Amino acid sequence: MAATKFRCPRCRTLLEKGAGAFVMGWAGYKPRHDDPLPPSVTCPRCACAIPTAPMVAGEFDEKPDWFTPLALALSGAAGFAWRYGCGRGAGESWGVAFASLCALVGAATVFDRARAALKKRG
Ligand SMILES: [Zn+2]
Repeated sequence: MAATKFRCPRCRTLLEKGAGAFVMGWAGYKPRHDDPLPPSVTCPRCACAIPTAPMVAGEFDEKPDWFTPLALALSGAAGFAWRYGCGRGAGESWGVAFASLCALVGAATVFDRARAALKKRG
C-alpha cells in the first residue's frame, strides 16, 4: 500500500513525498532510464542523497500507512449504519463492523500482493 511519507534511509527523518511521487508509487512505478524524476533527493537533515526510484516505489515508506485508519473509519461507519439505519442491535452492529474491517484489510492485502507480483513479473 502506498504511503504519503517515507523515512530517510540514513537518519530516519520522516519526510513528505510529493503528490506526484505518491501517485506514481501507488500505480506501481518502475524506474526507467528516460523518466523525468531527478535521480535523488537530498535529505534536509543529514544531506544524504536519497535515491528517487526506490523512494517512489515505496522502499522507504513509513508503516503503517494511511490505509489502516481509513479501514477502521469505514468499518465503524458500516457498524453505525447497520445499527441506526437498519435498526439492528448493538452486538450485531459490532459484528458487521468487525466483518467489514476484516474484508477491507483482507482485500487491501490481496490487492497489494497482486500488485507486487505484477511488478516483479512486469
Ligand atoms: Zn537524512
